[in-house]
Amino acid sequence: MNSLLEQYAAIVGDTVIDQLKQLARPLAGMKIVHVNSTREGGGVAEILSWLVPLKQELGLETEWEVIGGDKDFYQCTKKFHNGLQGNPVLIPPAQLRAYERTNEENGERLRQTLEAADFVFIHDPQPAPLLQMCPGRKGKWVWRCHIDLSHPHRAVWKYLRGFVASYDASIWSLADFAQPLPHPLYLIAPSIDPLSQKNIGLSADEVNRVYEQYGINPDLPLITQISRFDYFKDPLGVIQAYRMVKEFSPVQLVLAGGGAADDPEGEEVLREVQAAAGDDPDIHVLLLPADAHREINALQRASTICVQKSTREGFGLTVTEAMWKGKPVIGGDTGGIRLQVINHHTGFLVNTPEGAALRIRYLLKNRRKLEDMGRKANEFVYQNFLVTRHLREYLTLMIATMQEGVERIEM
Ligand code: UDP
Repeated sequence: MNSLLEQYAAIVGDTVIDQLKQLARPLAGMKIVHVNSTREGGGVAEILSWLVPLKQELGLETEWEVIGGDKDFYQCTKKFHNGLQGNPVLIPPAQLRAYERTNEENGERLRQTLEAADFVFIHDPQPAPLLQMCPGRKGKWVWRCHIDLSHPHRAVWKYLRGFVASYDASIWSLADFAQPLPHPLYLIAPSIDPLSQKNIGLSADEVNRVYEQYGINPDLPLITQISRFDYFKDPLGVIQAYRMVKEFSPVQLVLAGGGAADDPEGEEVLREVQAAAGDDPDIHVLLLPADAHREINALQRASTICVQKSTREGFGLTVTEAMWKGKPVIGGDTGGIRLQVINHHTGFLVNTPEGAALRIRYLLKNRRKLEDMGRKANEFVYQNFLVTRHLREYLTLMIATMQEGVERIEM
Protein backbone atom coordinates (compact mmCIF):
# COMPACT_ATOMS: atom_id res chain seq x y z
CA MET A 1 0.00 0.00 0.00
CA ASN A 2 1.40 3.41 -0.93
CA SER A 3 1.77 6.00 1.81
CA LEU A 4 -1.05 8.49 2.19
CA LEU A 5 1.03 11.23 0.61
CA GLU A 6 1.87 9.05 -2.38
CA GLN A 7 -1.83 8.40 -2.85
CA TYR A 8 -2.51 12.15 -2.88
CA ALA A 9 0.36 12.68 -5.33
CA ALA A 10 -1.58 10.55 -7.80
CA ILE A 11 -4.35 13.14 -7.69
CA VAL A 12 -2.64 16.50 -7.23
CA GLY A 13 0.85 15.79 -8.61
CA ASP A 14 4.31 15.32 -7.08
CA THR A 15 5.14 19.03 -6.91
CA VAL A 16 2.29 19.74 -4.51
CA ILE A 17 3.41 16.91 -2.21
CA ASP A 18 7.08 17.97 -2.37
CA GLN A 19 6.03 21.45 -1.33
CA LEU A 20 4.15 20.04 1.67
CA LYS A 21 7.21 18.01 2.71
CA GLN A 22 9.40 21.09 2.44
CA LEU A 23 7.01 23.15 4.56
CA ALA A 24 6.78 20.38 7.17
CA ARG A 25 10.56 20.02 7.56
CA PRO A 26 11.09 22.83 10.10
CA LEU A 27 8.10 21.50 12.07
CA ALA A 28 9.28 17.88 12.25
CA GLY A 29 8.87 16.28 15.67
CA MET A 30 6.71 19.08 17.02
CA LYS A 31 3.74 18.15 19.21
CA ILE A 32 0.45 19.34 17.79
CA VAL A 33 -2.92 18.86 19.51
CA HIS A 34 -6.32 19.53 17.98
CA VAL A 35 -9.32 19.75 20.30
CA ASN A 36 -13.01 19.76 19.40
CA SER A 37 -16.20 18.41 20.92
CA THR A 38 -17.20 15.42 18.80
CA ARG A 39 -15.37 12.62 17.04
CA GLU A 40 -18.13 12.11 14.53
CA GLY A 41 -20.92 14.11 12.92
CA GLY A 42 -20.49 17.54 11.38
CA GLY A 43 -17.78 19.16 9.34
CA VAL A 44 -15.12 19.67 12.01
CA ALA A 45 -14.90 15.97 12.85
CA GLU A 46 -14.84 15.22 9.12
CA ILE A 47 -11.84 17.51 8.61
CA LEU A 48 -9.91 16.32 11.67
CA SER A 49 -10.33 12.70 10.62
CA TRP A 50 -7.93 13.27 7.70
CA LEU A 51 -5.95 16.31 8.87
CA VAL A 52 -4.51 14.50 11.89
CA PRO A 53 -3.15 11.40 10.05
CA LEU A 54 -1.76 13.59 7.28
CA LYS A 55 0.14 15.80 9.71
CA GLN A 56 1.44 12.63 11.38
CA GLU A 57 2.67 11.33 8.06
CA LEU A 58 4.49 14.62 7.49
CA GLY A 59 6.45 14.02 10.71
CA LEU A 60 4.42 16.16 13.12
CA GLU A 61 3.42 14.41 16.35
CA THR A 62 -0.27 15.16 16.07
CA GLU A 63 -3.07 14.18 18.44
CA TRP A 64 -6.81 14.75 18.39
CA GLU A 65 -8.55 15.22 21.74
CA VAL A 66 -12.31 15.47 22.21
CA ILE A 67 -13.98 17.17 25.15
CA GLY A 68 -17.33 15.92 26.40
CA GLY A 69 -19.88 17.23 28.87
CA ASP A 70 -23.39 16.74 30.21
CA LYS A 71 -26.74 17.80 28.74
CA ASP A 72 -26.46 21.37 30.07
CA PHE A 73 -23.06 21.75 28.40
CA TYR A 74 -24.42 20.74 24.96
CA GLN A 75 -27.56 22.87 25.43
CA CYS A 76 -25.31 25.81 26.19
CA THR A 77 -22.92 25.29 23.27
CA LYS A 78 -25.82 24.79 20.86
CA LYS A 79 -27.15 28.16 22.04
CA PHE A 80 -23.69 29.65 21.47
CA HIS A 81 -23.81 28.24 17.97
CA ASN A 82 -27.27 29.67 17.31
CA GLY A 83 -26.37 33.00 18.94
CA LEU A 84 -23.07 33.38 17.11
CA GLN A 85 -24.85 32.73 13.82
CA GLY A 86 -27.21 35.61 14.59
CA ASN A 87 -30.21 34.26 16.50
CA PRO A 88 -31.15 36.05 19.72
CA VAL A 89 -30.67 33.52 22.52
CA LEU A 90 -31.04 33.55 26.27
CA ILE A 91 -28.62 31.29 28.10
CA PRO A 92 -29.52 30.49 31.72
CA PRO A 93 -26.62 31.01 34.17
CA ALA A 94 -26.77 27.31 35.13
CA GLN A 95 -25.91 26.37 31.52
CA LEU A 96 -23.03 28.86 31.40
CA ARG A 97 -21.74 27.35 34.62
CA ALA A 98 -21.99 23.88 33.04
CA TYR A 99 -19.94 25.19 30.10
CA GLU A 100 -17.20 26.55 32.33
CA ARG A 101 -17.28 23.52 34.64
CA THR A 102 -17.01 21.11 31.71
CA ASN A 103 -13.97 22.98 30.44
CA GLU A 104 -12.42 22.94 33.90
CA GLU A 105 -12.92 19.16 34.13
CA ASN A 106 -11.58 18.54 30.64
CA GLY A 107 -8.75 20.99 31.37
CA GLU A 108 -7.74 18.87 34.38
CA ARG A 109 -7.73 15.76 32.23
CA LEU A 110 -5.83 17.28 29.31
CA ARG A 111 -3.57 19.82 31.04
CA GLN A 112 -0.35 17.83 30.78
CA THR A 113 -0.82 17.12 27.06
CA LEU A 114 -1.91 20.65 26.22
CA GLU A 115 0.76 22.43 28.23
CA ALA A 116 3.49 20.32 26.62
CA ALA A 117 2.28 20.87 23.03
CA ASP A 118 4.09 23.14 20.59
CA PHE A 119 0.79 24.01 18.89
CA VAL A 120 -2.76 23.65 20.16
CA PHE A 121 -5.66 24.16 17.76
CA ILE A 122 -8.96 24.67 19.55
CA HIS A 123 -11.95 24.21 17.27
CA ASP A 124 -15.07 26.34 17.75
CA PRO A 125 -16.53 27.69 21.02
CA GLN A 126 -16.99 24.43 22.92
CA PRO A 127 -13.39 24.01 24.18
CA ALA A 128 -12.40 27.73 24.01
CA PRO A 129 -11.85 28.19 27.80
CA LEU A 130 -9.22 25.41 27.88
CA LEU A 131 -6.51 28.02 27.32
CA GLN A 132 -7.21 29.50 30.74
CA MET A 133 -6.85 26.08 32.32
CA CYS A 134 -3.27 25.74 31.07
CA PRO A 135 -1.22 28.50 32.72
CA GLY A 136 2.02 26.56 32.14
CA ARG A 137 1.55 26.30 28.39
CA LYS A 138 4.68 26.27 26.33
CA GLY A 139 3.35 26.39 22.78
CA LYS A 140 1.24 28.59 20.55
CA TRP A 141 -2.54 28.38 20.82
CA VAL A 142 -4.78 29.02 17.83
CA TRP A 143 -8.56 29.31 17.93
CA ARG A 144 -10.17 27.87 14.78
CA CYS A 145 -13.65 29.27 14.19
CA HIS A 146 -15.72 27.18 11.75
CA ILE A 147 -18.98 29.08 12.07
CA ASP A 148 -20.52 32.14 10.43
CA LEU A 149 -19.75 34.92 12.91
CA SER A 150 -20.63 37.78 10.58
CA HIS A 151 -23.67 38.96 12.60
CA PRO A 152 -23.35 37.48 16.08
CA HIS A 153 -25.82 38.09 18.86
CA ARG A 154 -23.64 40.57 20.75
CA ALA A 155 -24.04 39.21 24.28
CA VAL A 156 -22.89 35.75 23.24
CA TRP A 157 -19.88 37.00 21.31
CA LYS A 158 -18.91 39.35 24.17
CA TYR A 159 -18.89 36.42 26.58
CA LEU A 160 -16.96 34.15 24.25
CA ARG A 161 -14.51 36.85 23.19
CA GLY A 162 -13.32 36.90 26.78
CA PHE A 163 -11.97 33.37 26.22
CA VAL A 164 -10.58 33.69 22.70
CA ALA A 165 -8.91 37.12 22.89
CA SER A 166 -5.85 35.69 24.64
CA TYR A 167 -5.08 33.13 21.94
CA ASP A 168 -1.95 33.71 19.83
CA ALA A 169 -3.94 33.66 16.59
CA SER A 170 -7.28 32.68 15.13
CA ILE A 171 -8.38 31.08 11.87
CA TRP A 172 -11.56 31.95 9.98
CA SER A 173 -13.16 30.48 6.87
CA LEU A 174 -14.16 33.85 5.36
CA ALA A 175 -13.06 37.46 5.86
CA ASP A 176 -16.73 38.39 6.43
CA PHE A 177 -16.82 36.22 9.57
CA ALA A 178 -13.77 37.67 11.28
CA GLN A 179 -14.29 39.75 14.40
CA PRO A 180 -11.75 42.26 15.77
CA LEU A 181 -9.32 40.45 18.08
CA PRO A 182 -5.93 41.48 19.48
CA HIS A 183 -3.91 38.82 17.62
CA PRO A 184 -3.17 37.84 13.99
CA LEU A 185 -6.24 36.57 12.14
CA TYR A 186 -5.77 34.03 9.33
CA LEU A 187 -8.14 32.99 6.57
CA ILE A 188 -8.18 29.29 5.71
CA ALA A 189 -11.06 27.74 3.81
CA PRO A 190 -11.95 24.13 4.68
CA SER A 191 -11.54 21.29 2.22
CA ILE A 192 -12.46 17.70 1.46
CA ASP A 193 -10.44 14.53 1.30
CA PRO A 194 -10.78 12.95 -2.16
CA LEU A 195 -9.52 9.61 -0.82
CA SER A 196 -11.99 9.30 2.05
CA GLN A 197 -14.92 6.90 1.98
CA LYS A 198 -17.12 9.98 1.59
CA ASN A 199 -15.48 11.11 -1.63
CA ILE A 200 -13.64 8.24 -3.26
CA GLY A 201 -14.83 7.09 -6.69
CA LEU A 202 -17.48 4.34 -6.54
CA SER A 203 -18.48 1.72 -9.07
CA ALA A 204 -21.77 2.23 -10.91
CA ASP A 205 -23.05 -0.90 -9.11
CA GLU A 206 -22.41 0.57 -5.70
CA VAL A 207 -24.08 3.84 -6.65
CA ASN A 208 -27.07 2.00 -8.06
CA ARG A 209 -27.47 -0.03 -4.89
CA VAL A 210 -28.66 3.04 -2.98
CA TYR A 211 -31.85 3.11 -5.04
CA GLU A 212 -32.89 -0.24 -3.70
CA GLN A 213 -31.41 0.32 -0.25
CA TYR A 214 -33.50 3.43 0.37
CA GLY A 215 -36.49 2.75 -1.86
CA ILE A 216 -35.56 5.49 -4.34
CA ASN A 217 -36.97 5.36 -7.86
CA PRO A 218 -34.02 5.15 -10.31
CA ASP A 219 -36.16 6.61 -13.09
CA LEU A 220 -37.11 9.88 -11.40
CA PRO A 221 -34.78 12.90 -11.07
CA LEU A 222 -33.34 12.97 -7.57
CA ILE A 223 -32.81 16.12 -5.52
CA THR A 224 -30.72 15.61 -2.39
CA GLN A 225 -29.75 17.56 0.68
CA ILE A 226 -27.34 15.87 3.09
CA SER A 227 -27.21 17.68 6.44
CA ARG A 228 -27.52 17.41 10.16
CA PHE A 229 -31.14 18.19 11.07
CA ASP A 230 -30.56 21.81 12.03
CA TYR A 231 -32.80 24.85 11.50
CA PHE A 232 -29.95 26.76 9.82
CA LYS A 233 -29.83 24.06 7.12
CA ASP A 234 -33.47 24.88 6.30
CA PRO A 235 -34.73 21.35 5.50
CA LEU A 236 -38.32 22.63 5.64
CA GLY A 237 -37.49 25.18 2.94
CA VAL A 238 -36.11 22.33 0.83
CA ILE A 239 -39.41 20.44 1.16
CA GLN A 240 -41.30 23.57 0.09
CA ALA A 241 -39.05 23.95 -2.95
CA TYR A 242 -39.52 20.28 -3.87
CA ARG A 243 -43.33 20.68 -3.70
CA MET A 244 -43.19 23.67 -6.02
CA VAL A 245 -41.07 21.74 -8.53
CA LYS A 246 -43.33 18.73 -8.29
CA GLU A 247 -46.32 20.75 -9.51
CA PHE A 248 -44.59 20.95 -12.89
CA SER A 249 -42.34 17.92 -13.21
CA PRO A 250 -41.93 14.52 -11.58
CA VAL A 251 -39.12 14.56 -9.03
CA GLN A 252 -38.14 12.97 -5.74
CA LEU A 253 -36.32 14.28 -2.71
CA VAL A 254 -33.83 12.81 -0.28
CA LEU A 255 -33.17 14.60 2.99
CA ALA A 256 -30.45 12.59 4.66
CA GLY A 257 -28.75 13.33 7.92
CA GLY A 258 -27.68 11.98 11.20
CA GLY A 259 -27.11 13.56 14.54
CA ALA A 260 -23.84 14.97 15.77
CA ALA A 261 -22.97 13.98 19.32
CA ASP A 262 -22.69 17.66 20.29
CA ASP A 263 -26.01 18.77 18.71
CA PRO A 264 -29.02 18.33 21.02
CA GLU A 265 -31.53 20.07 18.71
CA GLY A 266 -31.45 17.46 15.93
CA GLU A 267 -34.36 15.30 17.12
CA GLU A 268 -36.76 18.22 17.32
CA VAL A 269 -35.84 19.36 13.79
CA LEU A 270 -36.13 15.79 12.49
CA ARG A 271 -39.66 15.50 13.90
CA GLU A 272 -40.68 18.71 12.14
CA VAL A 273 -39.17 17.48 8.89
CA GLN A 274 -40.99 14.14 9.14
CA ALA A 275 -44.26 15.94 9.82
CA ALA A 276 -43.74 18.26 6.84
CA ALA A 277 -42.87 15.31 4.58
CA GLY A 278 -46.13 13.59 5.61
CA ASP A 279 -46.91 10.48 3.60
CA ASP A 280 -45.42 11.67 0.30
CA PRO A 281 -43.76 8.49 -1.07
CA ASP A 282 -41.30 10.60 -3.06
CA ILE A 283 -39.79 12.30 -0.03
CA HIS A 284 -37.21 10.12 1.65
CA VAL A 285 -36.15 11.35 5.08
CA LEU A 286 -33.16 9.20 5.99
CA LEU A 287 -31.64 9.07 9.42
CA LEU A 288 -28.17 7.74 8.81
CA PRO A 289 -25.62 6.34 11.26
CA ALA A 290 -22.54 8.45 11.84
CA ASP A 291 -20.34 6.14 9.80
CA ALA A 292 -22.54 6.05 6.68
CA HIS A 293 -19.83 7.75 4.62
CA ARG A 294 -19.99 5.45 1.61
CA GLU A 295 -23.79 5.61 1.59
CA ILE A 296 -23.65 9.42 1.54
CA ASN A 297 -21.05 9.24 -1.20
CA ALA A 298 -23.36 7.00 -3.25
CA LEU A 299 -26.42 9.16 -2.55
CA GLN A 300 -24.60 12.26 -3.75
CA ARG A 301 -23.42 10.45 -6.87
CA ALA A 302 -26.92 9.11 -7.55
CA SER A 303 -28.40 12.61 -7.31
CA THR A 304 -29.38 14.74 -10.26
CA ILE A 305 -28.92 17.97 -8.30
CA CYS A 306 -27.66 18.56 -4.77
CA VAL A 307 -29.12 21.28 -2.60
CA GLN A 308 -27.73 23.02 0.48
CA LYS A 309 -30.34 25.61 1.22
CA SER A 310 -28.78 26.86 4.47
CA THR A 311 -29.67 30.26 5.87
CA ARG A 312 -26.30 30.42 7.68
CA GLU A 313 -23.32 28.24 6.84
CA GLY A 314 -19.72 28.42 8.04
CA PHE A 315 -18.51 26.61 4.94
CA GLY A 316 -20.71 23.70 3.96
CA LEU A 317 -18.54 20.64 3.31
CA THR A 318 -21.58 18.96 1.80
CA VAL A 319 -21.46 21.56 -0.98
CA THR A 320 -17.82 20.72 -1.74
CA GLU A 321 -18.54 16.99 -1.57
CA ALA A 322 -21.38 17.23 -4.07
CA MET A 323 -19.41 19.50 -6.42
CA TRP A 324 -16.47 17.08 -6.34
CA LYS A 325 -18.90 14.44 -7.63
CA GLY A 326 -19.76 16.64 -10.58
CA LYS A 327 -23.10 17.87 -9.26
CA PRO A 328 -24.30 21.43 -9.60
CA VAL A 329 -25.30 22.74 -6.18
CA ILE A 330 -28.23 24.98 -5.42
CA GLY A 331 -27.10 26.65 -2.24
CA GLY A 332 -28.31 29.27 0.18
CA ASP A 333 -26.77 32.65 -0.61
CA THR A 334 -24.85 32.78 2.62
CA GLY A 335 -21.46 32.34 4.29
CA GLY A 336 -19.09 29.73 2.95
CA ILE A 337 -21.54 28.55 0.30
CA ARG A 338 -20.77 31.79 -1.55
CA LEU A 339 -17.11 30.76 -1.76
CA GLN A 340 -18.04 27.60 -3.59
CA VAL A 341 -21.19 28.11 -5.57
CA ILE A 342 -20.23 30.58 -8.26
CA ASN A 343 -23.67 31.73 -9.28
CA HIS A 344 -24.64 30.46 -12.77
CA HIS A 345 -21.31 28.60 -13.15
CA THR A 346 -20.92 25.88 -10.50
CA GLY A 347 -24.54 26.10 -9.36
CA PHE A 348 -27.02 28.70 -8.18
CA LEU A 349 -27.27 30.84 -5.06
CA VAL A 350 -30.79 31.24 -3.74
CA ASN A 351 -32.55 33.09 -0.93
CA THR A 352 -35.99 31.48 -0.85
CA PRO A 353 -37.72 28.13 -1.49
CA GLU A 354 -39.23 29.77 -4.59
CA GLY A 355 -35.73 30.63 -5.83
CA ALA A 356 -34.54 27.09 -5.22
CA ALA A 357 -37.58 25.65 -7.05
CA LEU A 358 -37.00 27.94 -10.04
CA ARG A 359 -33.36 26.86 -10.35
CA ILE A 360 -34.16 23.16 -9.90
CA ARG A 361 -36.76 23.38 -12.66
CA TYR A 362 -34.33 25.22 -14.92
CA LEU A 363 -31.62 22.59 -14.50
CA LEU A 364 -34.01 19.66 -14.91
CA LYS A 365 -35.09 21.14 -18.23
CA ASN A 366 -31.58 22.04 -19.40
CA ARG A 367 -29.61 18.85 -18.98
CA ARG A 368 -26.61 20.09 -20.99
CA LYS A 369 -26.32 23.09 -18.71
CA LEU A 370 -26.65 20.79 -15.70
CA GLU A 371 -23.78 18.61 -16.90
CA ASP A 372 -21.65 21.59 -17.82
CA MET A 373 -22.13 23.14 -14.38
CA GLY A 374 -21.28 19.80 -12.76
CA ARG A 375 -17.99 19.65 -14.68
CA LYS A 376 -17.11 23.19 -13.64
CA ALA A 377 -18.04 22.39 -10.04
CA ASN A 378 -15.66 19.42 -10.00
CA GLU A 379 -12.81 21.47 -11.49
CA PHE A 380 -13.43 24.30 -9.00
CA VAL A 381 -13.07 21.91 -6.07
CA TYR A 382 -9.96 20.37 -7.63
CA GLN A 383 -8.35 23.80 -7.89
CA ASN A 384 -9.42 25.18 -4.50
CA PHE A 385 -10.84 22.83 -1.93
CA LEU A 386 -8.76 19.68 -1.62
CA VAL A 387 -6.87 18.67 1.53
CA THR A 388 -3.46 19.48 0.12
CA ARG A 389 -4.22 23.20 -0.17
CA HIS A 390 -5.71 23.17 3.33
CA LEU A 391 -2.69 21.43 4.79
CA ARG A 392 -0.28 23.79 3.03
CA GLU A 393 -2.04 26.74 4.65
CA TYR A 394 -1.97 25.13 8.11
CA LEU A 395 1.78 24.47 7.82
CA THR A 396 2.42 28.00 6.59
CA LEU A 397 0.45 29.42 9.49
CA MET A 398 2.48 27.38 11.98
CA ILE A 399 5.75 28.58 10.49
CA ALA A 400 4.53 32.18 10.47
CA THR A 401 3.37 31.94 14.08
CA MET A 402 6.76 30.57 15.18
CA GLN A 403 8.54 33.43 13.43
CA GLU A 404 6.59 36.20 15.12
CA GLY A 405 8.23 39.56 14.53
CA VAL A 406 10.49 38.28 11.74
CA GLU A 407 9.80 40.17 8.53
CA ARG A 408 11.05 37.64 6.04
CA ILE A 409 10.97 33.86 6.35
CA GLU A 410 13.65 31.96 4.39
CA MET A 411 13.12 28.25 3.77
N1 UDP B 1 -22.56 14.29 7.29
C1 UDP B 1 -22.54 12.94 7.60
N2 UDP B 1 -23.70 12.35 7.96
C2 UDP B 1 -24.86 13.05 8.02
C3 UDP B 1 -24.87 14.42 7.71
C4 UDP B 1 -23.70 15.01 7.36
O1 UDP B 1 -21.50 12.28 7.53
O2 UDP B 1 -25.87 12.45 8.34
C5 UDP B 1 -21.30 14.90 6.92
C6 UDP B 1 -21.35 15.62 5.59
O3 UDP B 1 -21.14 14.71 4.54
C7 UDP B 1 -20.20 16.61 5.78
C8 UDP B 1 -20.30 16.97 7.25
O4 UDP B 1 -20.97 15.89 7.88
O5 UDP B 1 -18.96 16.01 5.54
C9 UDP B 1 -21.11 18.24 7.47
O6 UDP B 1 -20.30 19.33 7.26
P1 UDP B 1 -20.91 20.73 6.84
O7 UDP B 1 -19.75 21.68 6.78
O8 UDP B 1 -21.70 20.59 5.59
O9 UDP B 1 -21.93 21.11 8.00
P2 UDP B 1 -21.85 21.12 9.62
O10 UDP B 1 -22.57 19.90 10.06
O11 UDP B 1 -20.41 21.14 10.02
O12 UDP B 1 -22.60 22.37 9.98
